[in-house]
Amino acid sequence: MTKDYYNVLGVDRKATKEDIKKAFRKLAHKYHPDKGGTDEAKFKEITEAYSVLSDDKKRREYDAYGQAFAGGSGPAGGNPFGGFDFNDMFRNGNFEFSTEGGPAFGGDFGDIFGDIFSGRAARQQTPRGRDISIDLEIAFKDAIFGTTRNVLIAKVSTCDLCRGSGAKPGTELEKCSTCNGSGRVHETRNSILGQFTTVRVCSACEGSGKIPKEKCPECRGHGTRRKQEEVHIRIPSGIDNGEMIRMQGKGEAVKTGIAGDLYVKIHVKPHPQFRRDGGNLVMSLPVKLTDALLGTTVSIETLEGKALEVKIPPMKRAEELLRVGGKGIPLEGGRGDLIIRLEVALPQKLSGKARKVVDDLKSEGL
Ligand SMILES: [Zn+2]
Ligand SMILES: [Zn+2]
Repeated sequence: MTKDYYNVLGVDRKATKEDIKKAFRKLAHKYHPDKGGTDEAKFKEITEAYSVLSDDKKRREYDAYGQAFAGGSGPAGGNPFGGFDFNDMFRNGNFEFSTEGGPAFGGDFGDIFGDIFSGRAARQQTPRGRDISIDLEIAFKDAIFGTTRNVLIAKVSTCDLCRGSGAKPGTELEKCSTCNGSGRVHETRNSILGQFTTVRVCSACEGSGKIPKEKCPECRGHGTRRKQEEVHIRIPSGIDNGEMIRMQGKGEAVKTGIAGDLYVKIHVKPHPQFRRDGGNLVMSLPVKLTDALLGTTVSIETLEGKALEVKIPPMKRAEELLRVGGKGIPLEGGRGDLIIRLEVALPQKLSGKARKVVDDLKSEGL
């Protein structure tokens, strides 16, 4: 059984050719895998429906035999596309659609497809190396003030000996005979939708259009090789746990084209004393009961390792946070604050004398 093609396109059984074309164009744009919808199945379905309803003869057969319609006398029986593989088409990435149109549908199909696919063909011309991502754990203090790290990464890099040309140093390059120096090979396939030209990077020269007369002994002519490379990573101040640093061009190299990017995901180790709240640093400060009652000045060690005198006013309650301006996290808009939450530390036990004093306090109504 085939789906109800009219339902698929959302048109009436009496819809004109123009209505059908309009409906298809709208849906094709909506569900095209390049538009972010990634609904290839739906796209395939509407394309299939359109291929039948836009063709007078097929539409008549479909109307006559309803959903049992078997797609005419095509070679693949139930599939009106014959052997055409949509998934294959999308996987390939690089393709151009010839706008002369397919033999079965005239110009309409070609127009619509040329229109949808043109952006994709243009975007994917330049080969690009793979992106790499790594995880990096840093100390809490380094996340606050920034730091640098040198990390060894195993990746495909440009060959040092030939500097990426693939030729043995001192020898020359000659034109690649496979692609005639263009770096690309075209493959044309006929389908019921028209002619598709797939453009691939030439595998013989890896897109450079040139072949070394004598191959570089280090990379065997590839111009790239897998090796350990030290990457210098600058971690900006104020970076938060889970944030990502993108280093353009520090991913894997390709012989011709642009290198991929390196993504560094930052994991911040928790600190025993401080935690982060946006641009502020938050800490708890234990104070003795008497200090909480009478007030005092305490010296605390900041994250920078400096002593900081903090005045605690008498009878400051824990929920009234103490705020020290400009001692928080350095961010673009300025530095946040250090926020101190007081914790009244009760004594482990009371001496007889202390007990008497507390009894006196109790009689005071405290
Ligand atoms: Zn080399
Ligand atoms: Zn080539």
